[in-house]
Order: sequence, then C-alpha cells, then structure tokens
Amino acid sequence: MLPEGLADRLRALADRPDGRRLDRDPLGLVRQARDKETAALLGALLAFGNARAIRRSLAIALEAVDAGRPLGRRFRHRWISGTDIDRLLDRAGEARARHGSLEGLFLEGDDGDLGHALDRFAGGLRGPRPGKGLRFLLPRPGDGSACKRPLLFLRWVVRSGGEDLGLWKRVDPARLVVPLDTHVHRIAYWLGLTSRKTPSWRTAIEVTAALREADPADPARFDFALAHMGILGDCPRSPLPSKCRPCPLRPWCRAWA
Ligand code: SF4
Repeated sequence: MLPEGLADRLRALADRPDGRRLDRDPLGLVRQARDKETAALLGALLAFGNARAIRRSLAIALEAVDAGRPLGRRFRHRWISGTDIDRLLDRAGEARARHGSLEGLFLEGDDGDLGHALDRFAGGLRGPRPGKGLRFLLPRPGDGSACKRPLLFLRWVVRSGGEDLGLWKRVDPARLVVPLDTHVHRIAYWLGLTSRKTPSWRTAIEVTAALREADPADPARFDFALAHMGILGDCPRSPLPSKCRPCPLRPWCRAWA
C-alpha cells in the first residue's frame, strides 16, 4: 500500500508541466520526426549514456533515416556502431512487411503477459543469430533485465497522455511496466516502492505495482516526471538540503528522513 498522501502527490507531479523536460529528452526529437515509430524505436533503444550524447546520436541517426542512407561504420553511440543500427532498421522493415506494423509484431507474441510479449517482440527484432550490438539494443525480460529501453519505447508508442505519442491503439496502457532508469529506480527505492537495490525485471514489476495504486489505468504516467527529477538535477544522487527542502516528495522520502 502506498503511504497516505503519496498517490495524490505523484499524480500532481506527473501532471505539472515543465518545459525543461522535452528539451533534455530524446522524446523531444522523436516528436518532431516524420516517421515517429522508427524515431521512437531508435530514440528509446539508444537511450543509454548521458542525455546530451543520446540526443546528439539520435539526431544523426534520424538525419540518415530521412535521407534514406545507412549509418555505416562512421556512426558510433558508445559501443553501438552504425552497422548495428542499420541491422536494427532492416529487421524493423522486415517485421513491418511481415506483420503490417511493429504493433502487429508485438501483438503476434502477446499472450496477455507483457513480459512474454516484450520477450517475443525483442526476439522478433533481433532475428536469428543476432550480433552483440542487437542483443544489447534489445534486452529481454526472460534474461532478468529491467528492459528500460524497450519499455521506454512501449511507453512512448502506447501511452497517449502527456508528451507520449499514442501511436499504437491496440495495447492497453494499463499493462505497461515502468522503464526503470537509474533515477526512477533510486527515487522509487527512497519512496519505498521497492526494497530491491538493483534494477531488474522483478524490480520494475514491483515499482509498477506500487504506481498502479496511484493510477490503475496508466501506471507509466509517472515515469517522465520521476526520471526528469534526476535528469534535471532536481533530485541528486545523495540528499542535499537545497534540493530536498522544496521537493514535493520529501515527506515520503527515506533518504531525506
Ligand atoms: S527529498 Fe531529496 S532525495 Fe528525496 S526525492 Fe526529494 S530531492 Fe530526492
């Protein structure tokens, strides 16, 4: 059970507009792209490392997609090469040709359990004998991974509230699992939404179950605001009076207590 008052405070936090968030988030670029589904796939799967580097890499990748040319060996986002991204885009194109859309690929493997569906979706995009790059880009819940980046993709394409895109119409947002990045995990731990110290698929399920109490129809609604508390430096890695005193979550935060 969420402690008294926390659900209301989380809802208020999620609904509070903050113009700084989209400027620092790959979603800001995805929203401007012509092919938003492809942009969402690239933006979410490249969302590792610092926010500025992610946006820089995504902008380069989207320019190549728009121009219809491969990224090739000259592109690199940390250890992911342009060849890895080209392979991912080829696989996404094949999936669209076979299933009509990426949503079609997802639904084909959907037995009602989001973890299973995501596992099969990632497997379908990886294809047979995937290289190291595709395996990293497309982690699977079955391996225990928290799957932050694939879940971020799902949040963007399934949810239509807030800044999300709502491109997929046949997946219920109530089923989403929260994409647990380092900031969301830390804040969730401090709020007592999980007692697990490492982000894993089980941790993501536990945090989502707690957030579902605040919004059963849309548990991923809180992700954007919580993640940006960390990204924007409003919630530091260790409590700081200058940040914590004005923090709307302070009454429930174990780190501050
Ligand atoms: S009280 Fe401080 S440490 Fe806790 S969530 Fe708020 S900013 Fe973060």
